[in-house]
Amino acid sequence: MKIYNTLTRKKEDFVPLEPGKVKMYVCGPTVYNYIHIGNARPMIVFDTVRRYFEYKGYDVNFVSNFTDVDDKIIQKAIEEGVDASEISTRYIAECKKDMEGMNIEPATTHPLATEEIDGMLEMIQTLIDKGYAYAAEDGTVYFRTKKFKDYGKLSHKNLDDLQAGHREIKVTGSNKEDELDFVLWKPKKEGEPYWESPWCQGRPGWHIECSVMSKKYLDEQIDIHAGGEDLIFPHHENEIAQSEAANGKEFSKYWMHNAFLNINNKKMSKSEGNFFTVREISEKYDLQVLRFFMLSAHYRSPLNFSADLMEASKNGLERILTAVDRLKELMEKALPSDDMTEEEAAVITGRVQELVKKFEDAMEDDFNTADAISALFELVKVCNTEADERSTRSFLMQLKITVENLCQILGIKTERKAEILDSEIEEMIARRQQARKEKNFALADQIRDQLTQMGIQLEDTREGVKWKKI
Ligand code: AMP
Ligand code: ZN
Repeated sequence: MKIYNTLTRKKEDFVPLEPGKVKMYVCGPTVYNYIHIGNARPMIVFDTVRRYFEYKGYDVNFVSNFTDVDDKIIQKAIEEGVDASEISTRYIAECKKDMEGMNIEPATTHPLATEEIDGMLEMIQTLIDKGYAYAAEDGTVYFRTKKFKDYGKLSHKNLDDLQAGHREIKVTGSNKEDELDFVLWKPKKEGEPYWESPWCQGRPGWHIECSVMSKKYLDEQIDIHAGGEDLIFPHHENEIAQSEAANGKEFSKYWMHNAFLNINNKKMSKSEGNFFTVREISEKYDLQVLRFFMLSAHYRSPLNFSADLMEASKNGLERILTAVDRLKELMEKALPSDDMTEEEAAVITGRVQELVKKFEDAMEDDFNTADAISALFELVKVCNTEADERSTRSFLMQLKITVENLCQILGIKTERKAEILDSEIEEMIARRQQARKEKNFALADQIRDQLTQMGIQLEDTREGVKWKKI
């Protein structure tokens, strides 16, 4: 299996640290709002990488954090007049709903930054003891960047160039020893959440959480560290500096980064305001379509989001699901016990096996899901042309299982669920509210029962009606 490693800028053979095991860490979202579909790209891509490893028989320990203490969360809490923890708890729950819709397997562990402060204090102390960090007068703790000789190895930047860049934007009023030093711990500001520490009451910088969580839940050395390409510098570069300085070992063997999801060929981001949330998309499409769309391109290629491409993905997915439905129908009618005919067996060991191999070869080549999907479409074509009313049940079953297995690697469910969109549910809830206002309780109860049958549970709260899929 080949993986493109950002560290070496080469595709390399994957050799696990421990045979049969993969230790993988993916930087997760900062939870101050609904996730947007750009954030969904690394989730879908690296969930697919995980699924492929699992298909190959690896035992994958997959860790992905939620950053639940951050300036943006605090800002949002101030705007709403609530605690920061209320904001992060709410959006972690919403993010998990979106992940479920996109069929992303829950991580082995989803650690939260605020629950790992002790580990962070410990690692920061180790860095201070080893001379890699220092506390300034106001209690801010900085990493002494230049002391870490390999700084810049991931982003392929060298210290002199970085230094030159910094000289032009000289930081005034800073109490750092050097412009390149970055924050490990910072003093609290009025009204912010804070923790006690030997240096000051304060909170951690962003980078330290990932070094600490990957060490705690995986090991000092891990196989794969991943995230979006914007994280290469400074986040991942700083994680390497912290972890390798503290542990005295190479941190991660392979570094994988997905390219950006764009909109109108411009980077989709919250700060630019040009984004769609996953929740908005779920009102128009089954989120499986979004997943299929994301996998239609190689993860290292930029991908432009458009209504046309979403429609194309919807149709493509439909073609696969229809083929599986047809196989199921044929199976119901076919004679139960017959062995495959010779011709059928030849199709399975010939064309079908070739296409499975083609799918696997694409995935082995740095997870080329675009090529894997074309192999899957070719397989669907074989199913449509080779299977008919005369086919034996074992042949039909073999075809169906093969398609389903490949879909499972991509995280595509072949079971069709009755398509209910969030917008339809919201509309039914509004009709029920209206009925209640008009004191038509019989109608209100009827709508509630209908929703229950559709697997939707309602909860009347002080803030209004909430619902969840059960
Ligand atoms: P954030 O919440 O901004 O820390 O982002 C969480 C993850 O989403 C990181 O891995 C980012 O690199 C990734 N990400 C953010 N925006 C995009 C985008 N437009 N396309 C692809 N990945 C993105
Ligand atoms: Zn991280």
